[in-house]
Amino acid sequence: MKKFIFLSVVLFLFACSSTKQAKINKGFAPNLVVAHRGAFLKNKFPENSIASLREAIRLGCTGSEFDVRMTVDDSLVINHDPSFQKMVIDKTAFAELRKLSLSNGEAFPTLREYLQSGMTNNKTTRLVLEIKPSDIGKERAKEIVTKVLATVKATGAISKTVYISFDYDMLKTIHQLDPSASTQYLNGDKSPEQLANDGINGLDYHYSVFQKNPTWIAEAKKLGLILNAWTVNDPTIMDWLIKEGFDFITSNEPELLLQKTSIK
Ligand code: MG
Repeated sequence: MKKFIFLSVVLFLFACSSTKQAKINKGFAPNLVVAHRGAFLKNKFPENSIASLREAIRLGCTGSEFDVRMTVDDSLVINHDPSFQKMVIDKTAFAELRKLSLSNGEAFPTLREYLQSGMTNNKTTRLVLEIKPSDIGKERAKEIVTKVLATVKATGAISKTVYISFDYDMLKTIHQLDPSASTQYLNGDKSPEQLANDGINGLDYHYSVFQKNPTWIAEAKKLGLILNAWTVNDPTIMDWLIKEGFDFITSNEPELLLQKTSIK
């Protein structure tokens, strides 16, 4: 009898976790791979280029991540660092940046172009949109968020977009403006309970945060929060996070992670 109860509990828990995975991945590729700044490394594409986004889509990653900033004249562009070729993005006009190109010859991309490309021949890859914090202030941060949401809407990308940020207030603003938007916090300094209380949908923390706070994994699952970790390139850490039942893993090595996790 005891054995039967134990087996039933195991089966029930398995069914719950499978249901959660199925729900999360409904309409998306059934793997946990988010290509960090697109799938750039293996093919030597520039990070955050449209080529790296298209490669992540071609590979069938469940998500492709990219970084959004705003120019001094309010254009949203894709770049990780505060500067591009020594030009500080939030102090430079778009026309100046547009004179520059990426190392593969692509024009310096706008968010609109990036999303349009991400919505073309893409059925199963999420667009994981990181909004970079603004040094200029809280009002500017709010303007960036408002403009990002408008661009996502205008390009028909709402259902494919997941928002991530180190700026907690930006995520809270997204939640206020669109309560159905999916949001994940990056900075690693809030407990799952805090996130759930503020309407944030998930934790996307550096993997070392989960090593230091191992109870957060179970807490997040209990609260129905999404578990994601960055930037995981080490196969041992990948194996650990897969075993822990993470929903997503963000990596510069999407090909390796796909080999480990694809449901064929
Ligand atoms: Mg990023």
